[in-house]
Amino acid sequence: MTERRLSGVGATPLSGVGTAVWYAPDAGLGPPPDPETIDADVERERFETARDAAREEIRAERERTAARLGEAEAEVFDAHVQFLDDPQITEGVEAAIDDGLPAEHAVDRTFEQFIEQFEGMEGRVAERADDLRDVRGRLVRALGGGERADLGSLPEGSVVLAERLTPSDTAQLDPDRVAGFATVTGGRTSHAAIFARSLALPAIVGVGTALRAVADGVDVVVDGRDGTLLIDPDEETRRTTAGEEAVEVRGGTVETADGAPIEVAANVGTEADLASAAERGADGIGLFRTEFLFLDRESPPGEDEQYETYRAALETFPDGRVVVRTLDVGGDKPVAYLELPDEENPFLGERGIRRSLGPDADLFETQLRALLRAAGAEAGGQLSVMLPLVATVDEVREARETMESVAADLESEGVAYALPEFGVMIETPATAFLADALVEHVDFFSIGTNDLVQYVMAAERGNDRVAALGDYRQPAVLRAIQTTVAAAQGTDVWVGMCGEMAGDPDVTELLVGLGLDELSMSAVAVPQVKRAVSETTVSEARELAARALAASTKREVDCLLTETTR
Ligand code: PEP
Ligand code: MG
Repeated sequence: MTERRLSGVGATPLSGVGTAVWYAPDAGLGPPPDPETIDADVERERFETARDAAREEIRAERERTAARLGEAEAEVFDAHVQFLDDPQITEGVEAAIDDGLPAEHAVDRTFEQFIEQFEGMEGRVAERADDLRDVRGRLVRALGGGERADLGSLPEGSVVLAERLTPSDTAQLDPDRVAGFATVTGGRTSHAAIFARSLALPAIVGVGTALRAVADGVDVVVDGRDGTLLIDPDEETRRTTAGEEAVEVRGGTVETADGAPIEVAANVGTEADLASAAERGADGIGLFRTEFLFLDRESPPGEDEQYETYRAALETFPDGRVVVRTLDVGGDKPVAYLELPDEENPFLGERGIRRSLGPDADLFETQLRALLRAAGAEAGGQLSVMLPLVATVDEVREARETMESVAADLESEGVAYALPEFGVMIETPATAFLADALVEHVDFFSIGTNDLVQYVMAAERGNDRVAALGDYRQPAVLRAIQTTVAAAQGTDVWVGMCGEMAGDPDVTELLVGLGLDELSMSAVAVPQVKRAVSETTVSEARELAARALAASTKREVDCLLTETTR
């Protein structure tokens, strides 16, 4: 049997080998009965009961997901409840019942219309279609229209193949039994991809319709690092894949083969994520996305609640560094109670530090009070405060003045505090160009490639249609990184990276060569990146970086990286 390969988008930097098992949840309802036999009042009643059952199921699923994967992942189920209660959808279902359909067909037809509408949209909004499918499936099942396929008890070593996986499908997968998954649809930011990263599951999304030709029961390798699905792999490929699964978790700081230390840290969103970051050998936290503390509630967390969370992070890493990013809302990160403006281009609007120095000034002060108090507590690691979406030196000055006035207040109140390290994210082209001016005002930079790429390349993050442009291997992005690092050279300012690029072991050597001091990533990638650092020598890495910086096309950069990873 010869090995065949299909390509998609790698969702986790992990690979796995196993047996293909097709998952086909939508068996279909069959034709509706004669409208004459339908009693609309009874069907409405059945729909109401099904909604209550679905709501209860979602609540339980949310709880399970929060405990297993973390609060950030669980939030998707809040959107599901909103769909369940959406007046437009409810009216659509009731109208279909009045047209003579039984409740399950009315749900199916109405949801299908909304799914089609969402699929016709661009970027992340299109991914909401999978959420609607999830809710539809629950309602139809609650109405007696089919059993839920049990993804939680698949045979050990299964590789799940599916048209798509909804959030609740993915949350059911057990990494001890499932070797990975591959889907026809989906992008790097789809829920399936995000959940796969939290579950540390090898995964490929967006393989396309060619996946449908892969038969149940064949052996496959899911290589989430480069997005390749190998069908009928030969013995050699199997062995190397199996060997690569078990990357050793290293505690303690890691050095390059020639002795240069590189800090390898984890990105977290909630207190629940801290333990897995420590278990995977992270040296500290390089990005605490505090917006997750503000989501999914009626009002913002108070000073004491935030203080406890920051303390917990510092106590988890007593010898490490914890970089807490101040509230970064706006753009694609809405918070219901903050009344964010309706903007035509939210990614270019009032987000990040712009809100903290404007309408959210009170929240900013409260957050800084909690942070300064946490920095001043006795035990725990080094606290660093980081500002999101900075574009000007004035913003940094103003934020620092606010921090100093908060410190003066705490002083006069006799409350214990300390000044933390103070830094900015480099995620707008403006800050990369201004890095030589910013070094005067900060202790560190952390390059946020997710936003930096979208702004440098004018290619929206999460929009599959411009995915090739929105790639961190683009020469223009590498040059923005280089400009930032060069500005910090010869100063005390350290330079880290906390965007997705930092967690890609295929570019670790390049990043070491570009001069990064710290790399921060989703916890799942920490062991591989630590290994990649330890296999790199600074002299070779610098040579690779120099060649990559001389490249004028992404293809040239890709070729250089393939040469070095072979
Ligand atoms: C980034 O932009 O690279 C980043 C790390 O921030 P976020 O993904 O939270 O916008
Ligand atoms: Mg960002």
